[in-house]
Amino acid sequence: MSSQTYRSTRSTGAEAFSFEETVLKGLASDGGLFIPSVIPKVDSQIIESWSNLSFQDLAFQIMRLYVKESEIPDEDLKKLIHNSYSTFRHEDVTPLNTIDEGNGLYLLELFHGPTYAFKDVALQFVGNLFEYFLQRKNQGKSDADRDVLTVVGATSGDTGSAAIYGLRGKKDVSVFILYPTGRISPIQEAQMASVLDPNVHTLSVKGTFDDCQDIVKQIFGDAEFNKDHHVGAVNSINWARILAQQTYYFYSYFQLLKKVGSDKKIRFVVPSGNFGDILAGYYAKEVGLPADKLIIATNENDILDRFLKSSKYEKGGDVKATLSPAMDILISSNFERLLWYLVRDNITKSDEKAGETINNWFAELKQTGSFTVQEEVISAAKKDFDSERVDNADTIKTIKDVYTSNTTKYVLDPHSAVGVTASYRNIAQDKAQKVENVKYISLSTAHPAKFAEAVNQSLSSIEGYSFEKEVLPEELKQLSTKELKIKLIDEANVEVVKAAIIEELQKEGK
Ligand SMILES: *Cc1c(COP(=O)(O)O)cnc(C)c1O
Repeated sequence: MSSQTYRSTRSTGAEAFSFEETVLKGLASDGGLFIPSVIPKVDSQIIESWSNLSFQDLAFQIMRLYVKESEIPDEDLKKLIHNSYSTFRHEDVTPLNTIDEGNGLYLLELFHGPTYAFKDVALQFVGNLFEYFLQRKNQGKSDADRDVLTVVGATSGDTGSAAIYGLRGKKDVSVFILYPTGRISPIQEAQMASVLDPNVHTLSVKGTFDDCQDIVKQIFGDAEFNKDHHVGAVNSINWARILAQQTYYFYSYFQLLKKVGSDKKIRFVVPSGNFGDILAGYYAKEVGLPADKLIIATNENDILDRFLKSSKYEKGGDVKATLSPAMDILISSNFERLLWYLVRDNITKSDEKAGETINNWFAELKQTGSFTVQEEVISAAKKDFDSERVDNADTIKTIKDVYTSNTTKYVLDPHSAVGVTASYRNIAQDKAQKVENVKYISLSTAHPAKFAEAVNQSLSSIEGYSFEKEVLPEELKQLSTKELKIKLIDEANVEVVKAAIIEELQKEGK
């Protein structure tokens, strides 16, 4: 029985938001992120009893811990989960692939959803949740009175297509994704624009990604526009995404134990940007998953790696454009959630005081570009986390090494290669220190076909290698022949974008 409620990481008072409010609001009005202040604990026998469940049944057990039955009854939650994962191409949803048994390295493939990247695992579910809550609010209402949601977002690639595939065809929801004209890959553009559902709108904006993001922020801050159109977000800080991602930590853990025996220590290695993926691993561990450690793998945008080594959370210079662009960030938004628990449990011992501390730290970050935490916070973090920073040269080398040493010629995408590089560094350390019985689950966050440039840079000198034949799936090949629906916005201006949104909503009859 769950009695779960949610609060904001920056709140200094008592708060109890429902799951529905948490999901539909996305971000708390004080600027903080929603969290369950009590993380549910499950005893080890019950966790063991989950080891033979299907992905969907396991998702149900985990989500049930965080969502009250009075908010979503069992049957409805089951249906939401089944619909969300019926769009995946693999029967395991997130299969575990053995890539180097001798070294105890396994790859958790998270890219079998409709857009070939890990964000589908969460956004397929979030799209269905939005529709579910809206349908319930709108029951028995006439067309004029219905609550509708206008989701507006900016993308530099992956999030946009995963959001579009999560929301296509959903009743009472329209989605508008802005991207900078000519600055995303043709595959990414075609993935978004080939979705012809009337409620999906891709806006190609003449400008940069920052221009797009600024316009989105201005639209969110526009009270009048909000009142008329109920603007919503599906960005990486929505709690439902963290919730949905917990399933694959449990699922892959059980799959690996079946292969290697239960006396092994299992570590997860996670290519990280906004810290959403790996944070789900932290919740899974707190719930009771007996995993050993979570290893944060960053690219050259390494705020998390620097923080664990220095206690200082610091923006640093400008964001670096790397071969793993979905991890190119200055600040890891979801990290605030972890900090809250570390502070509450180790320093303040109170929810309200933890909110006050987080508030002060993030005000300091805004003013000075950094804040420094107590030694106790770092040592608590290190009980669960380690980190590795991986540069472009190592990313390229790993893609090549794995392809040439693996008999099945496995091709990694550059994000997954950051994780695999970090895994091999840990494996080498274990060997040097004669640590045995450790196995690694490295998370693979995208299909290599989505990042042709980095993959070809790594492999094109190898005789016989062919991107078309070995990497590109038939479905993505066909994208180049599909009809595209793109609305060109020839000026990066919020008024022009708002007018375009209103025009499209009118066409939809909203
Ligand atoms: C979003 C993304 C990541 C980073 O995940 P976070 O939750 O932001 O840490 C890694 N790889 C790919 C391919 C992504 O799309």
